[in-house]
Amino acid sequence: MRMCLTADIGGYYTGAIEEGRDQFGLKGDFVTSPEISQVFGELCGIWFVAEWMAQGRQSKGVELIEVGPGRGTLMDDMLRTIRRFPAMANSIDAIYMVEASPELRVAQKNLLCGEDAPMTESKVGYHSVCKYNALPIVWTETIKSIPIAAEKMPFIMAHEFFDALPIHAFQLVSVPATQTTSPSPTDTSSPSTKTSHPTLQWRELLVSPTPPNSTHATLNTPPSQSRDTPPPDFQLTLSQQPTRHSLYLPESSPRYRALKTNVGSGALVEICPDAALYASDFASRIGGSPQHPKPRPSGAALILDYGPGDGSVPTNSLRGIRRHRRVSPFAEPGLTDLSADVDFAALAEAATRASDGIEVHGPVAQADFLEVMGIRERVDMLARAMMDDGELRAGDDEEEGKRKKVEDVRKASARLVDRGPGGMGKVYKALAILPENEGRRRPVGFGGDVAA
Ligand code: SAH
Repeated sequence: MRMCLTADIGGYYTGAIEEGRDQFGLKGDFVTSPEISQVFGELCGIWFVAEWMAQGRQSKGVELIEVGPGRGTLMDDMLRTIRRFPAMANSIDAIYMVEASPELRVAQKNLLCGEDAPMTESKVGYHSVCKYNALPIVWTETIKSIPIAAEKMPFIMAHEFFDALPIHAFQLVSVPATQTTSPSPTDTSSPSTKTSHPTLQWRELLVSPTPPNSTHATLNTPPSQSRDTPPPDFQLTLSQQPTRHSLYLPESSPRYRALKTNVGSGALVEICPDAALYASDFASRIGGSPQHPKPRPSGAALILDYGPGDGSVPTNSLRGIRRHRRVSPFAEPGLTDLSADVDFAALAEAATRASDGIEVHGPVAQADFLEVMGIRERVDMLARAMMDDGELRAGDDEEEGKRKKVEDVRKASARLVDRGPGGMGKVYKALAILPENEGRRRPVGFGGDVAA
C-alpha cells in the first residue's frame, strides 16, 4: 500500500497517474465530501470555531493542521468560514499541511495562496503565504516534522486520510499438536509420548506475485472487479510461518487478543500501525505526553473517514477504486487508488494510550454530525443567497438556470447525509479528540451544545 500510493518512484498520489488525469472529481477516480459540497468544509470550520470558543478563546498560538489535504478544498472552505470570526482568525499563528504528494502540494498552494505565489523550501518543509489573513502555510511530508510546543492550540483535521495508510492483515490459524516421543527415564522398554495441544497462532497475509499466465478465472477475481482491468499482478497468500509483524501487532491490543477465544481459527484482522502513530501524535499535541508535557491541554482533532463504528476490527476491507468503480487492489499498482476501512476503536485506543490529557468522542455517523452542525440551515441560506444573487431582473432563462443550480447544491449536500447504500451519511463516521475534561463537556455534533 505504501509503495503503491506514495513511493518516490511513482505512487498513485506521487506521480504515477498520467498527466491530465486526476484522482478527484467526476472525471477522476473518486469524489470526496469536500469536493461534493462546500458546506462540508464550512461546517468543519464552524466545529473548530465552536471548540476555540469553548476552550476560552485563546488570542494567539492557534495552529490549523490538516493531514492529507487533497486539492486543498476543505482547508479553503474552513478558512473562508473561520475568517467570519475575526478574533479566532487573528489567533492563528500558522497553517500546516501534511502532504506526501508534490503535485498535490502545488495544487493546494495554488488554491490557498494563488498561482503566482512563490513556494520556498526550508529544512522543515515548503512555505508560502495564504490569501486569507496572509497566514504562513508550511507543507511537510509527515506530521513528525511539525514542531510541538506546550503553549500551542492545535486544531487538526483529517478527512479521508487514515483510509490511505498501509494496513497489515492477519489470520488466526490452528497449529496442529506436535508429538514428541522420548525414551522413558524409568522403563527403557516403553518410551513415553508427549502431545502438546493445538495452538492458535496469527499468520500474516502477504502480498506475493501471481503465477505467470494467470487469468481472472484462475485467480477467482470477483466479477465486479474484473471489468476493464488486466488480471492482477499480485495476490494475498497466507504465510506458513510467523513473520515479524504477526508476532507483535495482533498481540498489541486486548481487542485482537480476544478474538482467540471469541472467534478462534479463521479470525481475520487488519491493523494499521501508521494510523496508531498519527492518532498518538494528535493526542500528545492536544493533551501532552511524557516526552512533551503540556500543563494545559488544548486544541482538538476531527477525524472523518469510513469504517465500522461499532468497535469491530476491520477485515477484508482492502479495496481498489478506479473511475468510480471497484477494481482489484492488486491490478495495475500505482494506477489504482487503494484504501481500507478505518478502525476507529484502534484510533481511540492509541490516542488514549499516548496521552492522559485527552478524551475521545464518537465515532458518530457523518449524517448525525453534519445535521447537528446545521447542514440543512446552511444549505437553505446558500439557496436563498443564490436566488437573490444579482439585482437585475432575472429573465425566465436566468431564473431557470438559478433554480437548476440551487437544485444541484441541495442534491450534493443531501448525498453527504444520505443514510442509504449510495449515500455517505452512514458509512462515514466522525471521531473527535479533545482535551480531557472528565466528560463534563461534550463537543458539538457529538452530543454537546455550543458553549459560547
Ligand atoms: N482530504 C482530501 C483528500 C483525500 S485523499 C479530500 O477529502 O478530498 C488522501 C490524501 O492523503 C491525498 O492528499 C494524499 O496525497 C495524501 N496521503 C496519502 N497517504 C499519505 C501519507 N502516507 N502521508 C501524507 N499524505 C498522504
